[in-house]
Amino acid sequence: MNTTQTHPELVSYNPATNEPVGTLPITPVDQVSVVVERSAAAQKRWASRPIEERAEQLRPAGERLAAEAEAIGTLLTREMGKPLAEGIGEVTYAAKGWSEEIDEIVSALRPEVIEDDDRLTRLYFDPLGVCGAITPWNFPVLMPHQAVLAGLVAGNSVVLKPSEETPLVAQAYCDVINEFLPEDLLQLIHGTEDQGKALVASPVDLIVFTGSKAAGEHILGSASNGLKRVILELGGKDPMVVLDDADLDAAVTFGVRNAFRNAGQVCVSTERIYVDDAVHDEFVDRFVARTAELQQGDGMADGIHIGPMISARQKALVVEQLAEAVEDGAVVAHGGGDAAGNFVPLTVLTGLSHDMRIMNDETFGPIACIQRVHGDEEAIELANDTPYGLGACVFGEVEHASRVARRIEAGMVGVNSGCGGASGSPWVGAKHSGYGFHSGPLGHRQFCQVRTVSVPK
Ligand code: NAD
Repeated sequence: MNTTQTHPELVSYNPATNEPVGTLPITPVDQVSVVVERSAAAQKRWASRPIEERAEQLRPAGERLAAEAEAIGTLLTREMGKPLAEGIGEVTYAAKGWSEEIDEIVSALRPEVIEDDDRLTRLYFDPLGVCGAITPWNFPVLMPHQAVLAGLVAGNSVVLKPSEETPLVAQAYCDVINEFLPEDLLQLIHGTEDQGKALVASPVDLIVFTGSKAAGEHILGSASNGLKRVILELGGKDPMVVLDDADLDAAVTFGVRNAFRNAGQVCVSTERIYVDDAVHDEFVDRFVARTAELQQGDGMADGIHIGPMISARQKALVVEQLAEAVEDGAVVAHGGGDAAGNFVPLTVLTGLSHDMRIMNDETFGPIACIQRVHGDEEAIELANDTPYGLGACVFGEVEHASRVARRIEAGMVGVNSGCGGASGSPWVGAKHSGYGFHSGPLGHRQFCQVRTVSVPK
């Protein structure tokens, strides 16, 4: 991302072609607190209205978003690089679930009554105030969406600082919602981590951050100044365990999809695959054959499954990890090396060990790492040998795989499927992958201040 001191504009580039897609004015750092002040005034008016009224005001925005899905999805693909069907699909997903999610939030925040022999206590889920949301580029609509909708329905105002890599699509998403909202309730600030830091330092009441572990740690430290509430959704190094009784076809189909989707730039990408010795060789053969079927290229072109890395910087990180792994003895079963522009070849590595950086650090690129294990105990031990704990999955006979899944130290574990839960489940990271969480009734309440009022009986 090119940002210069003399030309205060954020230029957004298409990562597949390196051509500019558009520009937006950078918010001067000293203006961030002014934006937050206006946000606080708007929040007071918004919070004074009943939650049902707020919900109804927001509800029609879902239909407008659906009507704009193709236009915003196309912009998303041009700005971020994922295939067009996935770009449009991301916007459609947010639009389709819009109304249902509003209902879920309203229901989760209804006051509750608890009582004992002596007292009756009413539990209220009140707004917190100004929510500062800071988001990454890999799902440039869904990441802002999950903070914006939950924050607003709960009665907060939102100041969003989207990634400097994908400002245009975040702006387009917010422009749609703002057609239905009073002034200043949902505002954007544009810029780099400097604007993010200024937002964290400003008098916001809640910081909802999705991004890297390093930035999350920094934000947690800064938020202590003012005791700001935080929700941090951070990086991962998700394991997949393939047991000796797994349906190999299902395991390979899932593994290939989840290692390479969005060029591996997904927080719950399958980055480590532990395969039982009994099925390891066959799994690898099938995995390589399926990988070879995938077409990589400009997401705007027909028949493309996988796009580029978001930037030359992200590519350099992935290529460096890959080269280091090969130097340390990893075997390239498919791909490897380099490709033109911001592309990284889809790569399958075997012969891995936990002495290698690629089995420890988040890669965030299209590299599938397959390690042979001997039995469930070794698979569980290696899957848990990480400071991360976002998602995981276990493939095997259902009862067997479910027992193994319960021992994996991740926030979300899928059995014979990805880690996402049924509708209403939280999106939650364990260990260093999360601090607080969002989504589902439990997550929606984290956008609130819980208060009790008790009356003697
Ligand atoms: P990043 O941490 O570099 O940046 C995320 C956002 O934070 C950007 O808007 C950036 O400008 C801002 N920022 C960076 N440093 C900051 C600081 N010190 N203070 C305030 N703001 C700061 O992450 P990224 O490269 O945009 O995204 C990739 C990362 O996001 C990966 O680690 C991925 O796993 C993670 N991620 C996690 C989830 C989840 O649900 N857990 C979802 C998507 C992405």
